[in-house]
Amino acid sequence: MSTGDRPDVRGYFGEYGGKFVPETLMAALDELEHAYREACADESFAHEFHHLCHEYIGRPTPLYHARQLSEQIGGAAILLKREDLAHTGAHKINNAVGQALLARRMGKKRVIAETGAGQHGVAVAAACALLGLKAIVYMGDEDIERQSPNVHRMKLMGAEVRSVSSGSRTLKDAINEAIRDWVTNVGDTYYLLGSVVGPHPYPLMVRDFQAVIGQETREQMLAAYNRLPDYLVACVGGGSNSLGLFHPFFNDRKVEFIGVEAGGRGLETGSHAAPLTAGRVGVLHGAKSYLLEDDNGQIRETHSIAPGLDYPGVGPEHSYYKDIGRARYVAVTDAQAVEGFRLLCDTEGIIPAMEPAHAIYHAARLAADLSTDKTIVINLSGRGDKDLDIIAGAKDKKA
Ligand SMILES: *Cc1c(COP(=O)(O)O)cnc(C)c1O
Repeated sequence: MSTGDRPDVRGYFGEYGGKFVPETLMAALDELEHAYREACADESFAHEFHHLCHEYIGRPTPLYHARQLSEQIGGAAILLKREDLAHTGAHKINNAVGQALLARRMGKKRVIAETGAGQHGVAVAAACALLGLKAIVYMGDEDIERQSPNVHRMKLMGAEVRSVSSGSRTLKDAINEAIRDWVTNVGDTYYLLGSVVGPHPYPLMVRDFQAVIGQETREQMLAAYNRLPDYLVACVGGGSNSLGLFHPFFNDRKVEFIGVEAGGRGLETGSHAAPLTAGRVGVLHGAKSYLLEDDNGQIRETHSIAPGLDYPGVGPEHSYYKDIGRARYVAVTDAQAVEGFRLLCDTEGIIPAMEPAHAIYHAARLAADLSTDKTIVINLSGRGDKDLDIIAGAKDKKA
């Protein structure tokens, strides 16, 4: 059995996770697990990761006290963990650099990845350019159209972008295609997954690389306030920025975790991407977890105004946190996220990505009901430059 914050030997967090993959990938996952365990035991690996975090990504990112925002709401102090200031504009680079280092260490020269909105693809393209690896990024052709600036960025950094025209032509289909590529080219290829999803050991590895967020937050809170925060609030797509923030506080039982899912057009409409708040347990992309499926067991179409949250599944560790009550999960709609987005632009002069705008909205509501001696840390997982068209569209709808 898992012991709270580690999966068991078969890769289960409680009853979630595992390795539901074709036989041909079992050996590749074993090889990966072995290589990762060795890397963790090698000080030089951690040293190189932290060196690149500092020199290349620009870490530590600030823990910023949003005074104007806090004052306007008139309750708890709100702090922002500024992942939007990381290189390439979001937290995804932490994991991309960590896994690209692992790929190089394993002697794999060809790296494949999936991307939805393109943020993970951009991070992988950057990390592979840096480390001299060939990157191939699968992306649904619907997303290629919606996110053309990111496609351009990936190509500029030397990545090959392969368009996927199956299924709903979005992230879940891109993952299917990447898995297919991996099965075919398993010998020389490293699959660089972008969130805490997929078969073991991905949920563990990605969480470990992203845990730099929570480790820094912990140190920064203690240095500036000499105490831990009362609440951690983060948006949940696959679940990596949230677990990266939460995990280093797992044993600090007084620190409450709140994961914010995409409520889309409202949970009652069925048009959302909130598997933890409105889904059930099943198997998707190699792991058992909460997900969105219909009565025939078919994966449902999802919707969110935030492309990075538009995914029908969620990492197994979150499902475990939900069941043991370590974290609470809520859903915030598209319209509410737009409110959260505007609130941060207006009060702080910071344009957030639409994904963390969900967390901002929820945290602002929460802060209003708390006394001024309480603190809330929001993971500001990315900057909003990529979403300006989306916001322009939201405005048109209102007018
Ligand atoms: C991809 C993305 C997310 C969602 O992914 P998680 O794995 O849940 O963190 C959230 N915010 C931003 C800015 C993203 O790019």
